[in-house]
Amino acid sequence: MPRIYLDNAATTRIYDDIASEMFAAAKEYYGNPASAHSEGARAAELIARSRRMVAECLNCGEDEIFFTSGGTESDNWALYAMARASGKDRAAVSVLEHAAVIRSAERHFAKTDLIPCGADRRVSAAEVERALCKDTGAVSVMLANNETGDIQPVSDIARVCRKKGVYFHTDAVQAAGHIPLDVKKLGADMISASAHKFHGPKGVGFLYVRRGTALEPFILGGAQQNGMRAGTENCVSAYGLALALSRSVKELAETSARVAALRAEAERRILQIEGAHIVSAGVERLPGILCVCFEGVQGESLAMLLDLVGIAVSSGPACHSSDGAPSRVLTAMGIGSELARGELRISISGYNTREEISAAADAVAAAVQKSRGIKA
Ligand code: PLP
Repeated sequence: MPRIYLDNAATTRIYDDIASEMFAAAKEYYGNPASAHSEGARAAELIARSRRMVAECLNCGEDEIFFTSGGTESDNWALYAMARASGKDRAAVSVLEHAAVIRSAERHFAKTDLIPCGADRRVSAAEVERALCKDTGAVSVMLANNETGDIQPVSDIARVCRKKGVYFHTDAVQAAGHIPLDVKKLGADMISASAHKFHGPKGVGFLYVRRGTALEPFILGGAQQNGMRAGTENCVSAYGLALALSRSVKELAETSARVAALRAEAERRILQIEGAHIVSAGVERLPGILCVCFEGVQGESLAMLLDLVGIAVSSGPACHSSDGAPSRVLTAMGIGSELARGELRISISGYNTREEISAAADAVAAAVQKSRGIKA
């Protein structure tokens, strides 16, 4: 039986036709976009077209989009820029953030306050407001979490930050291409995204920066991207990102309905396994992420057993350390560390089928049983 890929929160498979289109573009647009000759101009036009396509998807201006090497760089840049622009030495970031945000905050600010989430797993605007003090220069709260898919009330948080005169960044790496993303409605000053999470190529992302927000370059060198992000532009990857985002946004309603139905089916089947707890059941979350904790098993051994029978899932985020420690995010959400060790993240995309979900559910049940047997 062919392998079943259910780790789409770690990365997605590139859309087949976009991979082909990028390959053709790589041969055609070989000029350096900064060169004055026609080859350079053609490559520069490809970048400009890509930027226009992204801006259209987000309802923003082309001048507000900066291409980067991915979500990590966008997060690093945002925290750095907010530290420089605010001149303040405190950041407040949610306890649920990706390491790219937390570690950047710790590097660029003298003090990082962690904003807790409530029993409903939400980081409320009121909690953000409580975390602010006169020295706070920046807030970062993710739009959707990479382990559980929970969606945070980002536009409410943006309003609080605006009122208090504090810069606000949201990491939309998991959300972009999966839920509607209108920057005017979100109201954040900066937004990070990464193409490989919405069936685009790896190694390319963008940072949206609201017009009028003070921005300092993070990577220094040439004058590319209005002098804000040096380095010869990866025009073919930016094009792949733009194509993937446009397609994901265009097909979003249809894909998310289909993916949510697959997740509901997976959830129904998994709940039949004794000692299974669905994390974030009933909470507003991304359609494709199903995070489950099993009593009496280690998520890592479950994921390994499943890999052996041809199913790719994960026991938490791909960048999580493999030291057997329970997930920081799940424990912050109030899940006990013993149960959190039994975490399995199944993340579904539009490429998955009902048959795959059914086969995976059978395999998960068998793996849980086997794993409990090994332990006993
Ligand atoms: N932020 C979140 C929420 C993520 O899930 C990830 C990737 O897993 C990143 C940032 C980093 O993105 P990238 O892999 O493009 O560097």
